[in-house]
Amino acid sequence: MTALAGKNALVVGVLNRYSLAWAIARALHEQGARLFITYQGERVRESVQKLAGTIDGTITAPLDVTRDEEIDQVAALAREQMGGLDILIHAVAFAPAETLSRAFIETPRDAFRATLDISAYSLVALARAVAPLMEERGGSIVTLTYLGGERVVPNYNVMGVAKAALEACVRYLAFDLGPRNIRVNAISSGPVSTAAARGIAGFLKMEHLVAQSSPLRRKTDPAEVGATAAFLCSDAARGITGEVLHVDCGYNIMGTGTLAP
Ligand code: NAP
Repeated sequence: MTALAGKNALVVGVLNRYSLAWAIARALHEQGARLFITYQGERVRESVQKLAGTIDGTITAPLDVTRDEEIDQVAALAREQMGGLDILIHAVAFAPAETLSRAFIETPRDAFRATLDISAYSLVALARAVAPLMEERGGSIVTLTYLGGERVVPNYNVMGVAKAALEACVRYLAFDLGPRNIRVNAISSGPVSTAAARGIAGFLKMEHLVAQSSPLRRKTDPAEVGATAAFLCSDAARGITGEVLHVDCGYNIMGTGTLAP
């Protein structure tokens, strides 16, 4: 199928082959999209470029989302080398390690600020930079969130607060960009064992419990997140914006502490 044939996609947040951004990049490519994949900096340049090189025609560039000048450079490159963008995938999050293992009430001001900046504000900054590149063609912006933004998930802490802000940003951006035919949505993924997730204290135990008690009785497969992102970026989803779509084997509908018999 080629639901995204002729579309250009900027994918922010690929670290390695386990990254949800990589699963999404592959799904977009399978549907015919051309990719522009960014990496955070020199530390991961070689490995991300090697991975990106496995998909023909993929462009790469550095992007630290805290740096406005790098956001502008990436937007300029997308205009120069692709002639515009149709899709932005935002799959970036960061919280200082110590905030993900001790009580939320202990979160220092600078850690709170950095987490919200990287994990939520970056969507606003990126949307502002890419919207002019989507002008006339319309576009789709997809970010990744987690249930910890809606409910308390022990140890998710300040990242949960950032996800709540991110989900509110999705709604306000959807309202701002709707008249330009740019849609903004979030996928709330179930736990997937990635580098970012493994930084949360007790993650593996939680992933196991969630799999046991989900309606589908299994873990979330990153390919399912990829397929949903491809759907949200396709014409089939043209009426959907400002939405948070759960791709979590149904876990979010369960009462707390529920374990399947
Ligand atoms: P991941 O592979 O570790 O990806 C996180 C990405 O964020 C990395 O590429 C990381 O780059 C990047 N990043 C952090 N700070 C950045 C910055 N200043 N500038 C640019 N990039 C930066 O983990 P992931 O689980 O796939 O995470 C992707 C998204 O999915 C995140 O928003 C996460 O919260 C969300 N999510 C994950 C799960 C899960 O269970 N895995 C569930 C729901 C939602 P570096 O590592 O190079 O810094």
